[in-house]
Amino acid sequence: MTSKLHGTVAIVTGASSGIGDAAARQLASQGARVAVVARRKERLDTLVSSIESDGGTALAVTADITNRAEAEQAVKTVVDRYGRIDILINNAGLMLLGTVLDQDVTDWERMIDINQKGLLYMTSAALPHLLEATTTGPREVADIVNISSYAGRVASPNFATYNMTKFGVNGFTEALRQEVTQKHVRVGVLEPGAVATELKLHNSEAIQQQLAAAEAENIPELLEPDDIADSITFMVTRPRRASIAELWNMPTSQA
Ligand code: NDP
Repeated sequence: MTSKLHGTVAIVTGASSGIGDAAARQLASQGARVAVVARRKERLDTLVSSIESDGGTALAVTADITNRAEAEQAVKTVVDRYGRIDILINNAGLMLLGTVLDQDVTDWERMIDINQKGLLYMTSAALPHLLEATTTGPREVADIVNISSYAGRVASPNFATYNMTKFGVNGFTEALRQEVTQKHVRVGVLEPGAVATELKLHNSEAIQQQLAAAEAENIPELLEPDDIADSITFMVTRPRRASIAELWNMPTSQA
């Protein structure tokens, strides 16, 4: 185990699967105490056990962060337990695909609720603690990494509302970066291309089949969650003077 993040506390949202799970493991392996946040308690408990059996420190925080009070309570739980927050990885998200004509408006609301409001609630609750960590911590710098997407840069049919949520994440991230960077809170956006996770499984069978066919034809080798966790770890382990404002990590096979 290395210790670039020794003495720090990280929160990873959406850590019960995919990118968040991988990121939590990597940050813990760098010495961070990691609070893992999501709704599926059993998954979080398994992750915490696994991190701890590898010698790390982790805390499961079960919360639906689309609920503002639950997001705020999640942050409070972490501060009560560990006394500080140095790193916030806003990763929890949902991708429901379909045309604007056909898609259920409820799907749009669900994506806005988690991809945008959940991120905002967590950021708002954690930011005062991140600012404080810049003067009291081992690194004298704090980090927010917002997980956007390739779909935060490039719009496509069937992705309209997902595109909207992720383009919004990009804009919010850069505005916040400019507000707090001189206070030594680094704020960066990470835009993955296609990653092999559970993300697409929330769609109908028909949409999943369409996606699988498109991926088989156009993206024969997807990224793995660890590829994105590598990027997250890279962003939060730069020297204090260096801030990665944007990082776009694509499968080599994705045009
Ligand atoms: P997963 O579906 O594996 O992970 C999504 C995570 O979000 C789960 O841990 C889920 O946990 C959590 N989550 C969803 N809703 C809530 C909620 N209301 N409250 C708390 N947690 C919630 O997908 P990925 O790992 O792929 O997705 C992670 C991020 O990466 C997302 O923001 C996604 O948009 C982005 N991304 C993914 C890409 C891909 O190809 N996979 C490409 C580009 C970006 P639970 O259900 O237990 O609450």
